[in-house]
Amino acid sequence: MDSAVSPLDEVHEKIAKAARIARRELDEITLIAVSKTHPAERIEPLLGQGHRVFGENRVQEAQQKWPALREAFPDAQLHLIGQLQSNKADDAVELFDAIHSLDRPSLLKALAKAMDKAGKQVPCFVQVNIGDEDQKGGCPIAELPAFLGAIRETDIPLGGLMCIPPADIEPAPFFAFLDKLARDNGINGLSMGMSSDYETAIMQGATHIRVGTALFGARG
Ligand SMILES: *Cc1c(COP(=O)(O)O)cnc(C)c1O
Repeated sequence: MDSAVSPLDEVHEKIAKAARIARRELDEITLIAVSKTHPAERIEPLLGQGHRVFGENRVQEAQQKWPALREAFPDAQLHLIGQLQSNKADDAVELFDAIHSLDRPSLLKALAKAMDKAGKQVPCFVQVNIGDEDQKGGCPIAELPAFLGAIRETDIPLGGLMCIPPADIEPAPFFAFLDKLARDNGINGLSMGMSSDYETAIMQGATHIRVGTALFGARG
């Protein structure tokens, strides 16, 4: 066996350190290994090491890669972390165990319908446009309370809030803001933090961190 410390071990160590500093329990923090663009051969070693929670950002790519991987590892869990078109709601509900990109009423409607049809309730995180950026997806902050109200009228389990902070700015204030929005709205889950900032996100209360590059290397 290779005795070198694996990227997964390294990330686990950093998670543990951040959790210790923040006085948080490790079992409150789920590491989502973001395997988008990487082929099954790159994903299998992580599954072999016992990791089970993965993230993909495209429905079609996940449909191609994951059925075979899941046959070999039936307890693997798949989270959709990318934008979702309403016309792919049925496919997403069939394939994924959680969806992190619920951000608009039309998608809510499509997902509620898809889940009813499938008889499967998939926890959804509401993506919030935390930096109020025109080009970014996510529910506008001003519309969040009403949108959460609309979700609570459906059977869709609310997983939490999710954000992608603006690039090239210190992310901590945005993570803290998402945490405040969650508290104000009685929500526990916080999907925030990527390879460059997951330790900061953990210190600000993240329950789900989405880490790709630090585990798999750069995407081609
Ligand atoms: C790609 C992606 C990630 C992972 O990014 P890394 O910087 O590679 O860790 C996390 N969240 C979302 C929404 C992504 O699209």
